[in-house]
This record gives sequence, C-alpha cells and structure tokens, in this order.
Amino acid sequence: MKKRRGLLVIIVMLIGFMAYHSGVFSEKIAYMKDDHAKLENVKSIDITKDAIYQGDLLLVNRDYPIQPESVKKDVISLIEHPEIVQGYGLLDTNILLSQEIAENFSDVVQAAETDGIHHFMINSGYRDFEEQQALYARKGSSYALPAGYSEHNIGVSLDVGSTQGKMETASEGKWLRENAWKYGFILRYPEDKTAITNIQYEPWHIRYVGMPHSAIMHDQGFVLEEYIDYLRAEGRVSVRLYGIQYTIQYYPVTEPMEMKVPVNHDYQISGNNVDGVIVTIAQKD
Ligand SMILES: [Zn+2]
Repeated sequence: MKKRRGLLVIIVMLIGFMAYHSGVFSEKIAYMKDDHAKLENVKSIDITKDAIYQGDLLLVNRDYPIQPESVKKDVISLIEHPEIVQGYGLLDTNILLSQEIAENFSDVVQAAETDGIHHFMINSGYRDFEEQQALYARKGSSYALPAGYSEHNIGVSLDVGSTQGKMETASEGKWLRENAWKYGFILRYPEDKTAITNIQYEPWHIRYVGMPHSAIMHDQGFVLEEYIDYLRAEGRVSVRLYGIQYTIQYYPVTEPMEMKVPVNHDYQISGNNVDGVIVTIAQKD
C-alpha cells in the first residue's frame, strides 16, 4: 500500500511538472491562429490623425519625436500622493509621473515585495521639455536625449533604482528584468539591443506599454522599435494570456476614418507615433 501511494505521489508530481512546463498553469502566452474576435455588438468611432500621437504604445526615439498632444494629461507630483507612493522611495521631492503609470508601478512594487524585493526607489519620472534640455546640456548625448525625443517627456517612463546598489547587480534590477512585463512594463533599453535603440544599456529605465504588449515583447525579445514593425507587418495578432483573449490590430491612418470597436468588451486605442493606430480588444473567458 505504501509503495503504491509513493508511486501515486510521483505520478501526480510528474503530471504537475508537465502541466506547468506545457504552459497550462504558467504565465505562458499562447498565439491564436483563428484570430477573428467574435464581436456581436460593435459601434463606429471616428479616428483622426491626432490618434497617431496618443496612447501607451507611442514609439519615441531620435527618429520619432513627441508631439504636444502625446504628453499624458494626468501627470502628478508623487510626493503629494503618499497614498500611491508606498513601499518605495523617491530620489527627491520633484518627481512627476502620470498617475495611471504610478498606480501600475505600485503593482510592480507590491509583487516584488512578496518575493522579498523591497528596496526600490524612483529616480526620475516625467520631465518637461525645459528640464530635458537642461539635462541634455549637462550630461551630453550619450546619456540623455534632446528635449522632445525622450520618453520621459510624455510621462510613461521612469528610472527605477535600488537603495542597495547599481541596478545592473542589485536584486531589484534582476527582479525587474524578469518580472516587470507581467505588469505592463518593459525594459526599454536592454543590453543586447543597443544597435536598435541607439541608447546604452539602461537597467533602470522602464516604460509602460500595457498588457498584452509587454508580454509579447518579452516573449519574442522585441524592443519597442521591433514590436511596432512587427504589428505593422502582421496586421493582426491574437494571443491568450491569463484567461483573456487579446486581439491586436494595426491600422494605418492617413486621413480621418471610421473604426469598428466592441460595445461589450474592453478596448484600447493607441497611436504608434509613426503612421497609424493599434487597437487592442480584451475578451474575458
Ligand atoms: Zn530614463
């Protein structure tokens, strides 16, 4: 009897191990072939060229500067919001950030906390053009971008440090590299992509893009430049993650147009800051 029970335990463990590694229980992303989201109720909305320059997927770099309408409208001073700033420090009292992004960052900090990682601090957030220009003048082009060419000027990016040391080696840095994508953030300037980003490795600079984009980018090893190209080339991408089916569709926008969006499902529209918009529809099981 004892022997059989032992065997049973081994079998159950083996099944569990196989299920985990086949992605049944893990956070593994599944790409869907039959990608037509079945939308019974749709409505039409008007899209104008302005939409190219708003949202969480804007590609901002030396080739694609930001437009005035790209700046997040909910930028707040973090020191004035102790209800949001919990579990991490601020380098100084002047740090600004989009409130939505700050709330999403709180999820990151909370999740890290449960893994025993709790020495984060925010060193920089939203910077207006004036501040960016001063930084560029002071630090030079290998460290900073000129005003209007930095993600910090929109409010979606933040520089995260560790009170325990450099992010390259601190456990906060390691944790972010492995887990930030689960909360919609990407490491914008990874070590192996400097030839594409034209920016040195910055283990501290994270950028919010939202789900499922951060998951796909992590899964495929894309930086934002590559991801924007990928969506344009694919046209439509469908994935399933954490019980939600996401349909991502790229639309070029050259003139005002009408677009069909679901009435009964969440959707988000973001420009790519280049030539079109990306619509992301989320259908829960
Ligand atoms: Zn930065």
